[in-house]
Amino acid sequence: MSNYIDTHVHFDALRGIDAETALRKAVDGGVMRVVAVGGSIAANMSAVSLSAAHAGIVWPAVGYDRDCAGSSPPMADLEDCARQKGVAAIGEIGIDLHYSPDTETDQIALLESQLDLARRLCLPVIVHCRNAEEQVGHMLKCHSRLVAPTMSERIGVVHCFTGTAKFARVLLDCGFYLGFTGIVSFRAAEELRAVARSIPDKRILIETDSPYLAPVPFRGKPNEPCLLPFVAKALAEARSVSQDHIAEVTTRNAEMLFCPADAGKSS
Ligand SMILES: [Zn+2]
Repeated sequence: MSNYIDTHVHFDALRGIDAETALRKAVDGGVMRVVAVGGSIAANMSAVSLSAAHAGIVWPAVGYDRDCAGSSPPMADLEDCARQKGVAAIGEIGIDLHYSPDTETDQIALLESQLDLARRLCLPVIVHCRNAEEQVGHMLKCHSRLVAPTMSERIGVVHCFTGTAKFARVLLDCGFYLGFTGIVSFRAAEELRAVARSIPDKRILIETDSPYLAPVPFRGKPNEPCLLPFVAKALAEARSVSQDHIAEVTTRNAEMLFCPADAGKSS
């Protein structure tokens, strides 16, 4: 059976299932490791404590997402949290002008201060971007120039990628990974599948973004990390390769990004 790594799970938002059960089902289904993303003070704390209880299986990420913009969340608290043992990334962070166009200035400032934190702590970033390719592209270009010498394969990922081919090119040039979700399995996502075909193996990651975006044939239901193989299957079909190949390269990439000491261990 192939091994998978789910690089984006909101354990604090799971519906109808607790984190322990979701993890057990994931591991039983070949999803051997997961990134538990934060985004608020509460989500960050729960990601860190889940990883303490499941060391080696759960990699925590901590950050303030765009919903925190405008409320001046305490950066010192985030830094304390990010310095805890095992924290694998700053995330999720980013800009969403689809849902929150009114707080653009605050979202930009919050993202900038967290990119700065990631640079100081030498941690990769997990970035959300919706209707903000111009702004995010510019900020990530600057960020990658500053960290590239030390963090070349570990700069970060733009998760749940649904952007244009042009934006994908900008991100690849910056050394970023692109995270693909169940959206690649949606019937209407032909444009996204075309972009997904053009990304080199060494830059793709897969994620469920649970509890959101369940892949076909579970579309519309609450998502869980154990459904990650369906994302791999859709991406494999889009790229005309085997599902095993997707499992292998995305596992290697996730290890490289989030835990370089683990690279190669699971193959
Ligand atoms: Zn997310």
